Amino acid sequence: MELPFLLKKFDADYKAELIGERLLSTPQHYAYLKISEGCNRTCAFCAIPLMRGQHTSKPIESIVWEAENLVRMGVKEIMLIAQELTYYGLDIYRKRALPDLLNRLADINGLEWIRLHSAYPSKFPLEVIDVIRERSNICKYLDMPLQHASDDMLRCMRRQITRAEMNDLIHAIRDKIPEICLRTTLIAGFPGEKQKDVEELKEFLQEHRFDRVGIFTYSHEEGTGAFDLEDDVLPKEKEKRAQEIMEVQQEISYEKNQKKIGRIFKTIVDKKEAGRYIGRTEFDSAEVDNEVIIRSAEPLTVGEFVQVKITQAYDFDLEAELVQEGIMETEQKKQFAVR
Ligand code: SF4
Repeated sequence: MELPFLLKKFDADYKAELIGERLLSTPQHYAYLKISEGCNRTCAFCAIPLMRGQHTSKPIESIVWEAENLVRMGVKEIMLIAQELTYYGLDIYRKRALPDLLNRLADINGLEWIRLHSAYPSKFPLEVIDVIRERSNICKYLDMPLQHASDDMLRCMRRQITRAEMNDLIHAIRDKIPEICLRTTLIAGFPGEKQKDVEELKEFLQEHRFDRVGIFTYSHEEGTGAFDLEDDVLPKEKEKRAQEIMEVQQEISYEKNQKKIGRIFKTIVDKKEAGRYIGRTEFDSAEVDNEVIIRSAEPLTVGEFVQVKITQAYDFDLEAELVQEGIMETEQKKQFAVR
C-alpha cells in the first residue's frame, strides 16, 4: 500500500515502471530493489492483488546479482520493496526466506545500508528482526503498514490481525531492538468508520509512539472488496480525521526528535539544496521520513556518509553540524557514558 505513494514521490508510473528491474529515477547513491511482485492478501481497500496478481518472489541469486550491480554503479543504500515483504520466498522456497535473503545481501561489500519497506503484520516472522539486529549494515528500521487499530475496522479491512496481536508484535519487535525506528501507514475514513474508531487509533498511536506515520484518506476503488460497502464518510470528514490523527503523531514526533539533540548520527548526504546539505540517518528513508539539514563549513559530497551532531529538532526534521573525527570519538564516549 505504501508503494504507490513512494512511486508518486518519484513521478514514477506504477504500471509501467515497476514491471522493469528497478526504478532508475533515484540519485546514484540509493536505489529501490523490488524483491517480489503481486500479493496474496485480500485487504478490502486494496487494488494491488487485482493489478499485480499473485505473489511472485524473485530468486535470491537474482536479487543478490542485482544488488551487486547496483553497488558497482555507486549505490550505497538499497531499499527493499515488495507489496508484502515478509511473504518473500513462500511461493518459490516453501518457506519465508526474507532472513536468508537479508543475510546474503548484508554480505555484499560496499553495501552500507539495507532498508525494509512494507512488511505485513499478520504472521510476521520475528527471525527477520534477529537478522536486522545482528547485521550492522541493515538499518534498524522497519516500515510496517498497520492501516488501523480498531478491531471493527481491522476486521472490515480484512487485515487478518487484531489490535491485541498488533500490540504483542510491536512489543516483541521492540524487545529485540529497542532503538528500532518503526514506520507505519494508516487509512482514515474507511467505510463504516466512526469517531470511536478514530479515537481508538489515536490512543493506539499514543500507546506505541511510532517513529514515523503516514496517513491516507480512504479511496473507493472499483473491484476491491470494500467497493460493495457504502463509502459513507464524506471527503471533508476523511480529511479532518486524517489531520486529527496526524496531529497526535506530530507531537510524538516532536518529542522524539527533541531527545536527539546533542546526539551523533551517521548520516548520508542526499543532496545540496539552497546552499544547505540535506541528509538522513539510518532511521529515515528517502523522501518519506525526516531529513537532517547539515551545517558544514567544508564542502560535502552527495552520496557520502558523515557523522553529524543534532543541534535543533522540529516536528519532522532535524538540524545538525558536522562532527570532526577527534571530537566524534570523545562525544561518542560521552553518549556511551550517559546511557
Ligand atoms: S498486503 Fe494488503 S494492502 Fe498490501 S498489497 Fe497486499 S492486499 Fe494490498
